[in-house]
Amino acid sequence: MKDADKKFTVSYTNLECKSCKKSLTRKFESGDIVFEENGTCDECDGNLLIVKIFGEVIGQ
Ligand SMILES: [Zn+2]
Repeated sequence: MKDADKKFTVSYTNLECKSCKKSLTRKFESGDIVFEENGTCDECDGNLLIVKIFGEVIGQ
């Protein structure tokens, strides 16, 4: 594969509050694991659970 064929891939983490069910998406951070609690909710201080990690290819 040639260098010119390389594409940027950005990973995102989708979280959901266990209390109010609010969901949010942020950039993936190393150490993020699906179905682990990670941080607290802005709305209700409930625990945020990582529900999905996904990647997006950025074209030119
Ligand atoms: Zn909440």
